Amino acid sequence: MAENAAPVAKDGMKEPIKSSEINPKFKYELIKMHGSEKLLKCFQCGTCTSDCPVARYSDTYRPRTILRMASLGLKDRVLKSDTLWLCAACFTCTDRCPQDVEVASVIRVLRNLAAEEGVVPQVFKEEYASVLESGYAYKIPELRTRKRETQGLPPLPKGNPEKIRKSLKGVRFVENLEKKGEQTGQQ
Ligand code: SF4
Ligand code: SF4
Repeated sequence: MAENAAPVAKDGMKEPIKSSEINPKFKYELIKMHGSEKLLKCFQCGTCTSDCPVARYSDTYRPRTILRMASLGLKDRVLKSDTLWLCAACFTCTDRCPQDVEVASVIRVLRNLAAEEGVVPQVFKEEYASVLESGYAYKIPELRTRKRETQGLPPLPKGNPEKIRKSLKGVRFVENLEKKGEQTGQQ
């Protein structure tokens, strides 16, 4: 997909930038955080976007644009962007960046900040709730379970939500999800 694909209003990444949106301190906050230290080395070559498997199938997801918004100080815009959550964390961008920018880690840092601000898409909150309840990221439909039986397939392994809860204890992202749960809405 071309980098200059048609603007998509929902995401807002291609909306005109107002000077009041710019937080000049944001980039300095980011470069102090683990994973985004090299953000300012980005020279906008676009390699991350052109090699990103998600960008290939999305009209809006552009890691290069996310990094540019972050370094420009468009804090609210980048943290509230839907596309921030499309990254599959495959690290191709990090491997290919000629400037050694840890692109996938910058995106992780931005997601953590978004979670701190309570801006997490509803779908992730639902997945989280499902994992805590059943051990699976989504509720397995009864129909599918029965179909497995009729086809002679073994039952799916039982989820262990107790163990998952234990291993998630102390994970800040998860704590933020719970803390801000009431304030968040679908982005
Ligand atoms: S590949 Fe690296 S330098 Fe090029 S746009 Fe992406 S982050 Fe910036
Ligand atoms: S880590 Fe995310 S941004 Fe980077 S190539 Fe993979 S999906 Fe794209």
